[in-house]
Amino acid sequence: MQNVKKRLQDGFKQPRQDLVLCSVCKGRAVVKGVFYELVCTDCNGSGWVIEGSRLVLPLEELVTQLSFKLQQAQKQIEALKRPAKAVGPQRQYQVSNRLGAGATNYTGD
Ligand SMILES: [Zn+2]
Repeated sequence: MQNVKKRLQDGFKQPRQDLVLCSVCKGRAVVKGVFYELVCTDCNGSGWVIEGSRLVLPLEELVTQLSFKLQQAQKQIEALKRPAKAVGPQRQYQVSNRLGAGATNYTGD
């Protein structure tokens, strides 16, 4: 059962795309122009493209995907910042599991 309202709600819950560095600008989001740097059109100035397809994301979607990526990166930074105490294998398992959940190809389903 997929009425319009349901589909709108689903649309709000964005699936996570695997983003890879744009090969044109090498993830820098800008390319060297003749006189100054220009926004890279191949990645919409984000430095990222969808893995595999190399598609440029529309800006609205790009913002969300970049947010996912940033959240993932922040989680990893926080995990790395945490003092590595000798706490036994259970905690290590939990930490690596959290990282894995964010790093794997999570589709949201
Ligand atoms: Zn680019």
